[in-house]
Amino acid sequence: MRMDKLLAELGYGTRKEVKKMLKKGGVFVDGEPVNNGAVQVDPEEQRVSVFGEDIHYTEFVYYLMHKPAGVISATEDSVHDTVLDILEQEDAVREPFPVGRLDIDTEGLLLLTNDGKLNHFLTSPKHGVVKIYRAVLEQPIEEKNIEHFKKGVKLDDGYVCKPAVLRRVPDTQREVYVEVTEGKFHQVKRMFEAVGNEVVYLKRESFGRLSLDEDLLPGEYRELNDDEIQLLR
Ligand code: URA
Repeated sequence: MRMDKLLAELGYGTRKEVKKMLKKGGVFVDGEPVNNGAVQVDPEEQRVSVFGEDIHYTEFVYYLMHKPAGVISATEDSVHDTVLDILEQEDAVREPFPVGRLDIDTEGLLLLTNDGKLNHFLTSPKHGVVKIYRAVLEQPIEEKNIEHFKKGVKLDDGYVCKPAVLRRVPDTQREVYVEVTEGKFHQVKRMFEAVGNEVVYLKRESFGRLSLDEDLLPGEYRELNDDEIQLLR
């Protein structure tokens, strides 16, 4: 890619600003100075440094966020903050977006990436990626709910959900883990409504083979490592 495009994508300014920056010197590729924005560079293969600092460029970025309640899992919203507002400026430059959605009041594991292919794979109903939620309910669960979820709960609009696993959180009456392989609108809340109960708190604990880190607080996020990215594919 062109050097000016690379630097602009990395957040060093507009193409025009970057051009000026290059003229000042200070940008090196494999130790050789570069001051022309049109020079082609392969940032994943070559060593690029800007004013003495090596840059780390990958085409795709992958973040695991502990979404807090109160923010929208979308890229923009006219009223509320979105999950993108949580990202540091330099992490937002590559334009990641949320993989699927969590309701505004739902907390927990949310992936963000700019890898459209992976997003499609993870959200396609065909692939049935397992999501595990922890829910606090208004009423204690009944044993018959477990069987009902296994058979497929019928939602208010007549849609019959794919089989879901319902497990009681040990030593609790009103707390459960729910494993679903779909991502219908308000799905978990509507599944409990369909059996005469109500979700009063909802948190996603895992997505596919990734689980939320215990020490990642609501509103914090981190990059996925290569092994974790492979676990999602
Ligand atoms: N199901 C819901 O009802 N809400 C969520 O945010 C996720 C799953």
